Amino acid sequence: MNADFVIENIGQLATPVGLGPATGRQAADLRVTEAALIASLNGRIVYAGPAAGAREVELAPGGERFDAEGRAVLPGFVDSHTHLPFAGDRSHEFLMRMQGRSYQEIAAAGGGIVNTVKATREIAEDDLLAISQTRLERMLLHGTTTVEAKSGYGLNLDAEMKQLRVLKRLADSHPVTIVPTCMCAHDIPPEARARRDDYIGLMIGEILPSVRGSGLAEFFDVFVEKGVYTRDEGGRLCRRATELGFLVKVHADELSDTGGASLSAEVGAVSAEHLLYASDEGIRKMAAAGVVATLLPGVPLFLMMDRHAPARAMIEAGVPVALATDLNPGSSNTESMPMIIQLGCFRMKMRIEEAIVAATLNGAHGIRRAHEVGSLEPGKWMDAVVLDSRAFVDLVYHYGVNPVRSVIKRGRVVVRDGRRV
Ligand SMILES: [Zn+2]
Repeated sequence: MNADFVIENIGQLATPVGLGPATGRQAADLRVTEAALIASLNGRIVYAGPAAGAREVELAPGGERFDAEGRAVLPGFVDSHTHLPFAGDRSHEFLMRMQGRSYQEIAAAGGGIVNTVKATREIAEDDLLAISQTRLERMLLHGTTTVEAKSGYGLNLDAEMKQLRVLKRLADSHPVTIVPTCMCAHDIPPEARARRDDYIGLMIGEILPSVRGSGLAEFFDVFVEKGVYTRDEGGRLCRRATELGFLVKVHADELSDTGGASLSAEVGAVSAEHLLYASDEGIRKMAAAGVVATLLPGVPLFLMMDRHAPARAMIEAGVPVALATDLNPGSSNTESMPMIIQLGCFRMKMRIEEAIVAATLNGAHGIRRAHEVGSLEPGKWMDAVVLDSRAFVDLVYHYGVNPVRSVIKRGRVVVRDGRRV
C-alpha cells in the first residue's frame, strides 16, 4: 500500500479501537503494540500496527519518515469542552479568592462572568482572534489536535457571532480542528437580569435561528444551574435548538443537583458536562440514552472543592466518560489535556487506560467526530502525539510536566521536539 508519511520506530503504540463510545469494561480498552509503525496517505491512516507486519507499506517519493526513536505514540487528544474565545483577565479576582475573599466581595469588586462578558463584547474581532490563537497554540504544544469551543461570553447576537466568526477564522487558519458550539445560554445577560423571559424569547426567536442560519455553530449548550437557567428553561431551549438542527449539550449538575443529568437524556443531548452532583437516577438515564458524560476535573481543583464527579459509578453504569479541560477564565484556566488526564486518575480514580480513552475516543464521540479521530486506525486522520518517553504510563506517572514531545496533524509534523514547526 502507498503512503506519504510514516511514523517508525515506535516503542509503544497505545490507542483505543473502533468508533466508540467505550463503556463499562471496554472503557479501559487501550490496544498497546510494542515496536510499531503507522503510515498515512493524504493525512488518512493506511496502516497502524506491528512494524514487522508493515512490509507492504511503500513510501512514495518525497514522502516523509518520522523517527519516534523508541518513544510512545498515542492519538492526538480531543479536548471536547472549552470556552476558548474569551477576552479579559480575571487574575485579580483569582488573587482575591486566594486571599480568602467571598464570592459576594469578588462580585462587588466587578468580578465573575460579567467581567468576561464586558471584555468580550468590547474587544475588536482581530484582537479576540489573536488571544484565542495563543491559547490554541498552547493546546497544540500539549498534544490537543481537536477541540470543541464555545461562544457564551457575548450573550447578545452581535457578540456571540463575533466569537463564532473568530472560531471559523481559526479553523480555517490553524492546524487544530475546531468544533464550534453556540452557548448564548451560558448566563443571563447582566442587562436582562430583571426580565430573563425576554432574553429566553430572544434566543428562541432570533439568536438561535440566526446562528443556525450562519452555519457557524454545530452544537448548542445551556448552563442549567441554580441562579442560571432552570431545568424547564433548559429543556425549552434544547428542544428549540434541536428543531433548528443543532446538536445539543447541557452544563448539568455542576454545583447542585438540578436534574440536569436526566434532562440531558430526555432532550436527546449528545453530552452532559460537569455532573459533580448527578443523581443515580440521572446516571442511569444517561446510560440508557447513550449520553456522553464530559467530566472536567480541572474545575473542582481550581475552585478548591473536595467533591469530584462520580466517574467510577458512571463507568460501572455504562455511561461513556470523556475528559476535557473546560478552559475558561473563571473556573479552570488550563490548556493542558495531560494535566486533566492526570486529575482523572488521581482525583476520580480512573485507570490510566480509561483516562486516555476518555481524552481521545470518548471525547471524539462527545463531539460526533469518532469516525475521524480519537484512535489511530486505518481510515481515521493521522493525528498523533509522540510522548517524551517509551511507555504510555509515563503520561500520568511523570506528572505536572508536559510529556508531549512531538505532534502530528493529518500526516504533517506540527510540533517537533517541543517546538512548533
Ligand atoms: Zn464549561
